[in-house]
Amino acid sequence: MSLLVRNARLGGTTVSLRVDRGVIVELGTETTGPPTEVVLEGRGLALTPGFVNGHTHAAMSLFRGYGDDLALMDWLRNRIWPAEAKLTADDVYWGTRLAALEMIRSGTICFWDMYWFQFDIARAVVDAGLRAVVSVPLIESPGAPEWNRIDAVPEALGRLGEFGPRVTPSLAAHAIYSVSTDSLRRLAALSAEHDVPLQIHLSETRGEVENCLAAHGVRPTTYLDGLGVLSERTVLAHGVWLDNAELALIAERGATIVTNPASNMKLATGRAFPYPAARSAGVPIGIGTDGAASNNSLDLLQDVKLLSLLQKHTTADPAVLPAADAWAIITGQLAPRLGAQPLAVGSPADFLLVDLGGAESVPSGEVAGLVYSATGSAVDTVVVDGVVLMEHRRVPGEEEVLANATRCATRLRTVLA
Ligand SMILES: [Zn+2]
Repeated sequence: MSLLVRNARLGGTTVSLRVDRGVIVELGTETTGPPTEVVLEGRGLALTPGFVNGHTHAAMSLFRGYGDDLALMDWLRNRIWPAEAKLTADDVYWGTRLAALEMIRSGTICFWDMYWFQFDIARAVVDAGLRAVVSVPLIESPGAPEWNRIDAVPEALGRLGEFGPRVTPSLAAHAIYSVSTDSLRRLAALSAEHDVPLQIHLSETRGEVENCLAAHGVRPTTYLDGLGVLSERTVLAHGVWLDNAELALIAERGATIVTNPASNMKLATGRAFPYPAARSAGVPIGIGTDGAASNNSLDLLQDVKLLSLLQKHTTADPAVLPAADAWAIITGQLAPRLGAQPLAVGSPADFLLVDLGGAESVPSGEVAGLVYSATGSAVDTVVVDGVVLMEHRRVPGEEEVLANATRCATRLRTVLA
């Protein structure tokens, strides 16, 4: 399909952008190519890259509001894990579609997911039109299903490769406290062998660090490095309690950290991610919403505002994490491994048209200023892979997604009551 965006604003100039078969083929003040099948009028709108949600559990949107106001381990053990034991493939499909709908409506074009029923997740990603890094998850906690075991991982990883170019296969270990030493070692080897990302929650709570020191005599990052887990393929979620030596080690190995400020604050992890130290160590940094059960929103613009304000507040320095850096983080520019592409000729046709004329944006009109003033509702139009997923805030098929997600969530509440 071919597509033309005309009269959109980009860095102070008015531009047009032409797309052919999912690729940006022209971008400038004038385009000269043949007429296109779709034309988007960009007057009053800013042309921007899409947002990258570096860590989430999309289908947990069905658990939004379930188990609010609890500490992490209490929340996991007494609310979330028992609830997850009741999930079906149909629940996960529609939960992921619900999350994808919310992400489209707030400008996210790519997300990194870690959840069960990965083939249904991949199907939901394909049907929703987004890009996602979908993982074969491993969690060896009590009550985990029989098929969720290390021996089944290689075959599942192979099958995830069959969902087309918008689904990137990945490995995922839930955490150092829920996956065995031997399995972590095997996942690291599989990641190297197949050259696929390996996601893991790391240093989310102080208790995780203390338990690791007690069990292994080293802090979590050193423990993982000893198992070969840390590499440029590794994406570490949270990293709240990392110390400077751990940050230096992560930078040396080239691993990425994805910070999740809303989830951390809601679960009261008690410390801010050490952003200034991570930046000066040279660690690639992305941002994630985490799941909707611990956020409870997937609107990345809200998360990046929280990230910036939390860092300023904690360091008592308003110059920490300025708007331009927050914008670079939300668009994936500080973490190349998360897969964001520049808005340029030859890149995949993934972009947003953002309304700069709304009450929350006037009079600034600056794109980076959106991180302080706007929510995802400022996003007017979303294009992924050259396909219009939302135009003027209308997402085709939205009613069906909302109805089915409500049906699944209602069934779950009934069986859990
Ligand atoms: Zn998480």
